[in-house]
Amino acid sequence: MKDCIFCKIVKREIPAEIIHEDEYVLAFRDINPQAPVHVQIIPKKHIETLMDISPEDKDILSAIFMAAIKIAGNEGVNSSGFRMVQNCNADAGQEVFHIHFHLLGGRKMTWPPG
Ligand code: AMP
Ligand code: ZN
Repeated sequence: MKDCIFCKIVKREIPAEIIHEDEYVLAFRDINPQAPVHVQIIPKKHIETLMDISPEDKDILSAIFMAAIKIAGNEGVNSSGFRMVQNCNADAGQEVFHIHFHLLGGRKMTWPPG
């Protein structure tokens, strides 16, 4: 997708601090972190929202969560705890229309989310 900022990160057309890459997934630090650990975990494939996932994408979803487990360990938040957030469409405040899972940790979270 030509004008997608996250596709540009996948293609290394704009910089990001990439901390994980595999066949399906890229993970990099959020540019505007909301916690000491704030990582974006994204599919390399351009998928606009969670609602655009199809059964053929099940390997991608699996890879995202396997990456999250690995990253949580590497970032030292596996025992202290962390939050995975996926904002879908307007009411959730989705700003980048290339699916991404926020992995947030390193501080106590509050509930309910804002
Ligand atoms: P969302 O509101 O769920 O769509 O979140 C978009 C997230 O992408 C925000 O947390 C932004 O800080 C983050 N973001 C936007 N551009 C970049 C970028 N170039 N590198 C890293 N994170 C970004
Ligand atoms: Zn994209």
